[in-house]
Amino acid sequence: MSIKKISKEELSQLVSTLIASGDRVEGVQAKDDKFAFGPLTSADDLRLDYDVTLLSPRKYVLPPVESLMTFEVGGRYQSEYDTEKLTLIGVHPYDMIALNQIDQVFSQDEVDNHYTTRRKNMTLIACDVVTPSENVFASSMGTATVSEGYDILLTDIGDAYVADAPTEKGQALLCNAADATAEDLAKRQAVQERNQSDLNRHPLNCKIEDLPQLLEKAYDHPVWEEKAASCFSCGSCNQVCPTCYCFNVQDDVSWDLKSGTRSRAWDGCLLENFANVAGDHNFRKKRNDRFRHRLYRKGKYVPEKLGIGTACVGCGRCITACVPGIANPVDIYNTLLNDIKL
Ligand code: SF4
Ligand code: SF4
Repeated sequence: MSIKKISKEELSQLVSTLIASGDRVEGVQAKDDKFAFGPLTSADDLRLDYDVTLLSPRKYVLPPVESLMTFEVGGRYQSEYDTEKLTLIGVHPYDMIALNQIDQVFSQDEVDNHYTTRRKNMTLIACDVVTPSENVFASSMGTATVSEGYDILLTDIGDAYVADAPTEKGQALLCNAADATAEDLAKRQAVQERNQSDLNRHPLNCKIEDLPQLLEKAYDHPVWEEKAASCFSCGSCNQVCPTCYCFNVQDDVSWDLKSGTRSRAWDGCLLENFANVAGDHNFRKKRNDRFRHRLYRKGKYVPEKLGIGTACVGCGRCITACVPGIANPVDIYNTLLNDIKL
């Protein structure tokens, strides 16, 4: 399908139609002086000019808490799946790439049916960044623009949006839109080229492909101890991160011990008990071990497992969320680069 052009008025009408259909529609809205994803009740509330949302759209594919099944002790169990249709509007490219990564995690090896069921029922409308946030560094991570995963990608070209709809779901929503002209496509390319260099408040001093090799040599570097000395182990850097996907599973059994529910909730590798195992052994008890682990996950372990460039998409949320100001991945990688030869 050719790429379309849709006026701002037409987009507003489309959003209004989706809301009127009764299906769940969520999108980015102002929240005091910040922005957040939330239920849309009016197209006027949608803000595609936002800088960054407080929490990433990860909460829609992997809710902070979700019930997995109910069971009878020693008997049958019943899995629970979320089959509600959801249209999510306003996902930035770096968050879209994070969702693509999490899709890969939950679909390979053992497929997670709770995740994939929810994901199949989603329609994702992404948008290119209009306003860079104060801590974004997506340009350094190769995540300032995105080419897959969405149903529609909107690019603001001033008086209208250029709309790329590679899926049937996206094409169905844009069936009445006009084709974009060569001039529209040139404007879109200019926006994307600008973002590929300008979303870079914290430039990384190496290529992302070099990070695994850098970290291979950095396990005993003093930066882990130095930074972790002021870490509160609050886990905020994990909670706001669009690519963190760890969870804890818990069974709650009824008072008569006959039935129960199994649920899962977000976990975070910076939390003290994250690595606690049977016998109350904790294999990452020290703060600097936990602090180092997060940076190794983003720069080495997950990229090597998934065959991707980096598991940090440069959204900058951890930098904003960390009270002692130690969570910036680029700050740490650049410190290592000063001391370690690649
Ligand atoms: S590590 Fe920080 S900057 Fe990177 S994706 Fe996670 S929250 Fe965003
Ligand atoms: S947000 Fe900062 S203080 Fe909190 S766990 Fe992460 S690095 Fe430590």
